[in-house]
Amino acid sequence: MSTELQVVAAEAATCVRCGLAETRTQVVFGVGDPHADLLFVGEGPGADEDRLGEPFVGRSGKLLDQLVWEEMGLTRDGFYIANVVKCRPPDNRDPRPDEIDACRPWLEQQLALIAPRVVVTVGNFATRTLLQTKDGITKVRGRSYPFGAAVLIPTFHPAAILRGGAQQMAQMRADLVRAKQALAVAPVDRSPEPVPSTSPAPEAADSRLFD
Ligand code: URA
Repeated sequence: MSTELQVVAAEAATCVRCGLAETRTQVVFGVGDPHADLLFVGEGPGADEDRLGEPFVGRSGKLLDQLVWEEMGLTRDGFYIANVVKCRPPDNRDPRPDEIDACRPWLEQQLALIAPRVVVTVGNFATRTLLQTKDGITKVRGRSYPFGAAVLIPTFHPAAILRGGAQQMAQMRADLVRAKQALAVAPVDRSPEPVPSTSPAPEAADSRLFD
């Protein structure tokens, strides 16, 4: 981890900004290449992640790793992976809006320090949080969206695919191929473009669709 990201991770490790601090085993900050061009953002840690301190290490994570390898040829050291909320919501419930808001600064710092060129949002929560839309993943996936100097590519959560979607599996593979193609595009000069805030804006992101 880069020094700055390490400092932020150390700060996050003692975070008590929301009630999830009371029930977590540990903060699951994120892992991977701190200078990665590719960042995956999921929803929040489950029981396995809470125990092991790493995002996507359970069944969903294994499927994600497999699909990323098969479609992009990448292993975990080739990207960074984190979640919208860094602490496990008890009983695998959805993260609440107040918890997402409390955790938002950690994700914003990860985005600023890693400065990825491609952000893949995994599932509804990450997609809605970063794209600032109320639309669901089925509606918004299949395209890229501008995201500061990066592009954002929404895809399904692997848990949805584990629940049985052959069509969704094929679509997720296509989303990963889209991400691979976006990575292959020559980097643009990013210096004038700040990393966008993930805070809700008055205007929905839908109009920003660009391919
Ligand atoms: N699901 C997520 O969204 N994140 C994890 O880290 C694990 C499962």
